[in-house]
Amino acid sequence: PTYSANPDRYDHMHYRRCGNSGIQLPLLSLGLWHNFGHNGNFTEMRQIIRTAFDSGINHFDLANNYGPPFGSAEENFGRILTTDLKAYRDELIVSSKAGWDMWPGPYGNLGSKKYLIASLDQSLKRMELDYVDIFYHHRPDPDTPMEETMEALALMVKQGKALYVGISQYSAEQTVQAYEILQSMGVRLLIHQPRYSMFDRWVENGLLDVLREKGIGGIAFSPLEQGILTDKYLNGIPDDSRIATDGRYLTQNNLTPEILNKVQNLNVIAQQRDQKMAQMALAWILRKPEITSVLIGVSNPKQLQENIATLENLHFSEEEIQAIESILA
Ligand code: NDP
Repeated sequence: PTYSANPDRYDHMHYRRCGNSGIQLPLLSLGLWHNFGHNGNFTEMRQIIRTAFDSGINHFDLANNYGPPFGSAEENFGRILTTDLKAYRDELIVSSKAGWDMWPGPYGNLGSKKYLIASLDQSLKRMELDYVDIFYHHRPDPDTPMEETMEALALMVKQGKALYVGISQYSAEQTVQAYEILQSMGVRLLIHQPRYSMFDRWVENGLLDVLREKGIGGIAFSPLEQGILTDKYLNGIPDDSRIATDGRYLTQNNLTPEILNKVQNLNVIAQQRDQKMAQMALAWILRKPEITSVLIGVSNPKQLQENIATLENLHFSEEEIQAIESILA
């Protein structure tokens, strides 16, 4: 059936400015790392994208290698864009990335100009787009001079193939360096995409300060620790969980008794707040003004609806914060 977007799609979502830029992002953004490969269910993917856009989630995050197989998430997203969202292109922020293993040989990985430029061209073809809104270097490359990687990002902006550029997984020091190199080339570093959750707080040791001082936006990936910071594993491993169905990046070994015990205790606080565990985990990250958006994944539209309802309670009392800190300690 043909799709026409919900006319009220901007009425409930909140938007936050991305650093000092002209761009605002929805508090929740949708990532297509899992559940959008050719191994997935296309009808379900389409339903997830429609549900997101109808709720004001206009930012979709991809990468060259999302699948499996590599590239297939971009292909499926491209199909959905073409059939459903073509009329809404100017309402969307679409991002892609390169930096991890993508094709054989020395030019299909890491941070050379050769790799990044070719990869963006491939991503544009797969998504059937003329440009992406944000292109990221996916991870730092210890062996390529950062000047070369930043030169590639700057070239994409000058060619109009990417409107803005970002970095992912760069340390605080590397972020300052990337910012300054890009600035010398007349290009703004729009955004940093770090991993950040209740269980992984490395960004609090310097990176958030850099983002604030330089006016760079921040979008937190795996804010639910791939599903651990939800109530789904509290009574075992469900058949429809990432651990059971995928097992590449999240395995049973991640569910230690210590972790599960913490989630149990956190879940009690969430219940006292009249919130689901996932909602509290997302709201907790969004307390940080340096974080523009939380970048979630979902395996069905119901999870998405539940996560969007996080917006109903973003406030924490001092007592709640202290109680959460003592559980996480
Ligand atoms: P999350 O931590 O949000 O985990 C998402 C998973 O948690 C879902 O697929 C689902 O798993 C489960 N889940 C989500 N909501 C609920 C809910 N309400 N109740 C119960 N379970 C729920 O994020 P991801 O790890 O998926 O990462 C999100 C995005 O971040 C990626 O798509 C990608 O865009 C980006 N990313 C970037 C990286 C980088 O290096 N820059 C690295 C990793 C991710 P289930 O299948 O079990 O239902």
